[in-house]
Amino acid sequence: MKEKLTSHLRAMQSHPSIAMQYLQRPNESDTVQYNDPLLEDEHEVIKGLVHKYPNRALIKVSYQCAAHCRFCTRIRQIGDPAGTLSYRDMEEIALYLTAHPEIDDTILSGGDPFYTPRHTMRLLELLMPIESIKVFRIGSRMALQSPSSFYTPLVRQLMEAITTVAKTKPFYILLHVNHPEELTTEVLDVIKMLSALPVTLLSQTVFLKNINDDYNTLYALFSQLYYNRVMPYYLYHCDKVTGLEHFAADRDTELEIATRLRATLSGIACPTYIIDVAGGYGKIPVPLAFMQQYGNKIADFSGMEHTLK
Ligand SMILES: *Cc1c(COP(=O)(O)O)cnc(C)c1O
Ligand code: SF4
Repeated sequence: MKEKLTSHLRAMQSHPSIAMQYLQRPNESDTVQYNDPLLEDEHEVIKGLVHKYPNRALIKVSYQCAAHCRFCTRIRQIGDPAGTLSYRDMEEIALYLTAHPEIDDTILSGGDPFYTPRHTMRLLELLMPIESIKVFRIGSRMALQSPSSFYTPLVRQLMEAITTVAKTKPFYILLHVNHPEELTTEVLDVIKMLSALPVTLLSQTVFLKNINDDYNTLYALFSQLYYNRVMPYYLYHCDKVTGLEHFAADRDTELEIATRLRATLSGIACPTYIIDVAGGYGKIPVPLAFMQQYGNKIADFSGMEHTLK
């Protein structure tokens, strides 16, 4: 325990905003039962396939991930080998998607699809011929968590497979990034490599209390991503997993920051501020505070008020 605490302290001191994303707090319970705040398990229609929104499906390739973010909405599953899809499971998924042509957009997630390149390649091979699937996406944090793995033969092979799919169908890679300190030279090299593929690079960020719930930090993060060919897509309010609520930032603070970011960043560099509503209701964009709730007053980018005619 003493050793654990010392290494925690050392990590905290050198990169506190990164370390705090992974470390258990000394007073955190070890026995808490982590819940499923987004009710994904209820929407998991067959193993690995979450069909919550009518036209798009999320596929968990495995529960394996190079990152074990402490605030992960799927922390109840992360690391569990039981989540890895077998070839039969993948065939079932392909059958389901063929039988549901209303699903035109598939999001490969997990876990991290780049952590299990063989499985991800197999799945892409099965899904590629399905005509009703018009768009592919992969959500990943590997570029940030383990940039060196992008130089291994298997991950290179996966990038080639992505290139093949992307020649016929639009392909999006969504990077999970939370802090500008995560964008090291090694990480930016991998981002450069990914941006050379025929894919569109997007990012997703989680608002985290005392880690990035600060205007300057997020302004720097989204500018850096934009400069490096990544388009910030979503900025999430942190899902409240039981026992990990301390990661969620204050919603009024978030709204103020998100409004200020929209006023000052290049439009393309500004993500949409989203809450994934607990109880399985799904994502809602939060209206920014430019408009008074009642009446016809608006505030412009400089904060000056105007009356709409
Ligand atoms: C977030 C999510 C999606 C994708 O939503 P978009 O708003 O299209 O990015 C799809 N399925 C599930 C279950 C999700 O949580
Ligand atoms: S990278 Fe994503 S899936 Fe992996 S632990 Fe972090 S939040 Fe969870």
